[in-house]
Amino acid sequence: MIYRENPARTSEIVGHVIVTPPSTVDAVVRQAHTSYLRWSAVPLFERLLALSDGAASVEASIDDLAVLLARETGKPLADCRGEIGFAVRFLRWVVAAAPSAYADDATDDEAGRLVRVRKPYGVVAAITPWNAPIILAMLKIGPALAAGNAVVVKPSPLAPLTISRVAALIGGPLTVVHGGAETGAALVGHPLVRKVAFTGGAAGGRAVAALAGDRLTPSVLELGGNDPAVLLDDAPFDDAAMERLVMATFATSGQVCMAAKRLYVPSSRLDSFVEAYVSAASRVLITGDPLAPGVTMGPVISAGARASSDRLRAGDVRDLGRFEADPAAGYFVRPALVVSPSPDSALVTSEQFGPVVPVLGYSSEDAVLAAANNGDLGLGASVWSADEDRAFAFARRFEAGFAFVNTHNRTGMSLRAPFGGVKRSGWGREYGAEGLAEYAQTCVIHAPAAYRPGAPAPAGGATAYPAG
Ligand code: NAD
Repeated sequence: MIYRENPARTSEIVGHVIVTPPSTVDAVVRQAHTSYLRWSAVPLFERLLALSDGAASVEASIDDLAVLLARETGKPLADCRGEIGFAVRFLRWVVAAAPSAYADDATDDEAGRLVRVRKPYGVVAAITPWNAPIILAMLKIGPALAAGNAVVVKPSPLAPLTISRVAALIGGPLTVVHGGAETGAALVGHPLVRKVAFTGGAAGGRAVAALAGDRLTPSVLELGGNDPAVLLDDAPFDDAAMERLVMATFATSGQVCMAAKRLYVPSSRLDSFVEAYVSAASRVLITGDPLAPGVTMGPVISAGARASSDRLRAGDVRDLGRFEADPAAGYFVRPALVVSPSPDSALVTSEQFGPVVPVLGYSSEDAVLAAANNGDLGLGASVWSADEDRAFAFARRFEAGFAFVNTHNRTGMSLRAPFGGVKRSGWGREYGAEGLAEYAQTCVIHAPAAYRPGAPAPAGGATAYPAG
């Protein structure tokens, strides 16, 4: 059994789920395979109608689901509503985009008849983390089900409750198994799992990629990041921009893969930046109970996460925002900006995944670009400037899977924009046409014109190798 505590009130057990032991995973996957055979034979538009109904059911329950999500993750209620609403919007976007993404693509011309058929893989294993458990599962569930696959989701034991209810509301060939790494490994290594989609940290990603690789099972990996936010020398430090940057850093207590995790500012503007950032935080950053109105930052997810954030609060620490939490009740950390730590410190070189952020001064664009691109991870990045063309030119030089201009957050972005890292931040894509394409395999049927009944025999005969 997994009992999930409320990280904002650790004396409270929010709920429990039954662990699926590795020995039971085989039966679950076999059942999913049988469901896949039935589901993949259902016409695409009927599958999409069922997914539309699923989206409506989730939307109708959003109030209750958001409270449950806030209680199991410690995220502010408004953010939980936002995440579930976004997941519903994404599922509807999949329904709209699927007909062209998964339809046959046929040509018939002087070279012959060619049909590209998009076929499901079979059973998809979706292994997901706790920090955004609904949207990160939906990014896999939506396209996988639309394409005709069955899905077995293994959520994090730190956030197993809301996703179980969401999955039941979506219906279709969708199963949830619970447990930690052993259950996940039994799922990924199962011979009937034909595609793996993993989101999480490097250690889990490495283990999952190795297991999937051993079976030659294709996989999508979305891993961690250490995103730089670079403010160019003309970047306005106006209230709205600074408030956006503060929330891009501290939403979900800094536990977001693509949070702004390192801030870089021209050295000559460092003091005025610190002043503007601290002032913006005092307006928008309120740490407290996730269910209390107006709170924008809750606790971190666990005792271990709190200890790790506390260790990073060293040096020139500026406390941020209003702290209205009771640290004795839950895993609360006072959010902080650390001014000019050593570039070699852990706060700068690794993903902190908590509410402590460094700001560093820089002397030239080349120097800051080298610092921004330093390291193994290349998930996201952002550049801030009054001149959009200049920002785009700078952004091209980031070693990152995607870059934002004057923001560092998906809010307001098109669902058409694909997402995924480079370097060691993962492989594959989510969102966008690329994300849909991950869940269908292309099979080609080709009748060369030369061999159609009645066609004149080709020069060189039937076995001649094409010239050139
Ligand atoms: P995690 O890697 O500890 O766990 C993720 C999932 O993998 C969980 O369900 C876990 O039980 C499972 N798992 C772990 N080891 C496994 C193994 N050996 N075999 C099979 N399954 C295994 O990650 P986490 O702590 O839940 O999430 C935080 C990390 O996820 C951060 O690094 C963050 O940046 C990253 N993340 C990335 C994205 C993205 O889209 N790139 C999004 C959110 C979070």
